[in-house]
Amino acid sequence: MNYQNTLQFAQQSDQQDELAPLRDQFIIPQHHGKDLIYLCGNSLGLQPKQTQAVIAEQLSNWGNLAFEGWFDGDTPWMQYHKQLTKPLAGIVGALDTEVVAMNTLTVNLHFLMVSFYKPTAKKFKIMMEGGAFPSDQYAIESQVRFHGYKPEDAIIEVFPREGEETLRTEDILQKIVDNADELALVLFGGINYYTGQFFDLEAITKTGHAAGAYVGFDLAHAAGNVPLQLHNWDVDFACWCSYKYINSSPGGISGAFVHQKHHQNQELNRFSGWWGYREDKRFEMKPGFKPQNGAEGWQVSCSPVLLMAAHKAALNVFNYSGGIEALRTKSKQLTGYLEFLIEEINTSHQKQLFKIITPKNPDHRGCQLSIICENGKVIFDKLVQNGVLGDWREPDVIRLSPVPLYNSFIDVYYAAKFLSEAVQ
Ligand SMILES: *Cc1c(COP(=O)(O)O)cnc(C)c1O
Repeated sequence: MNYQNTLQFAQQSDQQDELAPLRDQFIIPQHHGKDLIYLCGNSLGLQPKQTQAVIAEQLSNWGNLAFEGWFDGDTPWMQYHKQLTKPLAGIVGALDTEVVAMNTLTVNLHFLMVSFYKPTAKKFKIMMEGGAFPSDQYAIESQVRFHGYKPEDAIIEVFPREGEETLRTEDILQKIVDNADELALVLFGGINYYTGQFFDLEAITKTGHAAGAYVGFDLAHAAGNVPLQLHNWDVDFACWCSYKYINSSPGGISGAFVHQKHHQNQELNRFSGWWGYREDKRFEMKPGFKPQNGAEGWQVSCSPVLLMAAHKAALNVFNYSGGIEALRTKSKQLTGYLEFLIEEINTSHQKQLFKIITPKNPDHRGCQLSIICENGKVIFDKLVQNGVLGDWREPDVIRLSPVPLYNSFIDVYYAAKFLSEAVQ
């Protein structure tokens, strides 16, 4: 796109955008009688208009059918989660049997580490990105402690080079190679929550496997944001939350991926529960766990149907978009436009007022831009006063994430305009 810093350009871009009508599928929060400019989908996606009705349907089934709802009605709860499988598999690039909606994200991280963190006397270390989201740090620390190791001995973090904000792929891969003898697991984010960097998951997986380690990813900021090919990239396992870019309600249900090649592997530990038991025999209630084939065999508890209903409504909206590839094309244009407008502000002041720490290459980021500026918190608060909601991350970053499902070029235009006014 040949970007221009004019309202007319933004309006025209919206008119030509085939995905623009999707915005009408969402409830846009209001600010002084106008649509809020919501650039915070990296934290919590907006509510689809149909969510209420899809949840209400299950409340009604509960009211009318009570216990029978597990087996009766249009969508028996026993099978409810299966409707989510296909759209989820499309979003993360998996076979249907490789994905399941269950639990919440950090819970899934733990359950999957139970299976895939198998330390031995020699190979016991976990490699992760430095400055990962705190929940991931705590989960990994507690897992290595659980196995009798000290975090400082068993966790290897990869940090950017001195003076750089993001990781170089070559440095990640080299660190894997250098630690191959001791590495049990590589557990990385897909997109770093702070910088917005999208890692080369395929290369990390390949190098991790060559080092004899399992490789898994926390895709909290990647699922629904960038196209993924978990199956083809040969990723061992992954999990993500659905409330960021998948819009499936605050604290909504998480998703998990387990590669097909591990489905029959009896060597992997599991913390099991009855919902992972073979579906055809589950109600025989016999001792001795026999897993359902596929990722579903990692389920533990019965489905939280109301959360699944919210997830279903959100995945319906994803389906209207024509899929993640179409969204990605628009996403690159929107985020590119925001970047262009921010650089225009810098140019007009002949000074780098705003430093974007997110990678410049659109293939190395999702929709989020992380911006550092002087008095960042003051600038952020001024944006909020003007009806632009991004989010503020300590110590000094403003995160702005134009989401292709519901944000427009006009949103981006005004966000940048208010950013420019805030530094006047
Ligand atoms: C959002 C996020 C989480 C949140 O975990 P919950 O268990 O859903 O609270 C964890 N890890 C990462 C990387 C995140 O971005």
